[in-house]
Amino acid sequence: MPDYRDILAEILVPADKLQVRVSELGAEISRDYAGQDLLLLCILRGGVMFLADLMRQLSIPHAIDFMALSSYGVGARKSSGSVRISLDLNQNIEGRHVLVVEDIVDTGHTIAAVLELLQTRRPASLKICALLDKSERREVVVPIHYVGFDIPNKFVFGYGLDVDELYRNLPFIGVAKPDVYVTPGPEPPARP
Ligand code: 5GP
Repeated sequence: MPDYRDILAEILVPADKLQVRVSELGAEISRDYAGQDLLLLCILRGGVMFLADLMRQLSIPHAIDFMALSSYGVGARKSSGSVRISLDLNQNIEGRHVLVVEDIVDTGHTIAAVLELLQTRRPASLKICALLDKSERREVVVPIHYVGFDIPNKFVFGYGLDVDELYRNLPFIGVAKPDVYVTPGPEPPARP
């Protein structure tokens, strides 16, 4: 297993900046959802670090739950138009205020599919909180209500985001060296 330093081109968002922004988002969400039945819905696995830090910055009561998705056909390093739920949440969301917590929105296909599915379950409200937004790559229009950082079109890892399932533990967001993600090779297995 390579050390993360071998694949790191640059640090894009250092740990201290991440923590400041997460606490700002926590304050904003606490204000916006005061007095409401809030459910944070984390998309596994990339959203876990963000969720864990974000919930510690919320001053209002809230529940949490998890969903996991698999994408077909093109592997984990590119986005796919087709996503499948491999782990569904186990709470009823009807009439509740659901805030989806996602690591990164890239083309938007994943979050669009999640929104479409959850809407059928009739939540009182349904919003998105994404730590990272690669807005220039968007292929479908999706409303993102809370954004941590708008980032350029580069493959990033750390703070929940992986390179072939590794390095999610890093406390910063790093950019991977180009050869990490442009080298042709066998497709990584479908996630998760
Ligand atoms: P979308 O469907 O918006 O194109 O893709 C969203 C998913 O693609 C994210 O949840 C994440 O799993 C993956 N993804 C997109 N860009 C990156 C990236 O730069 N780094 C990593 N590690 N995953 C990414």
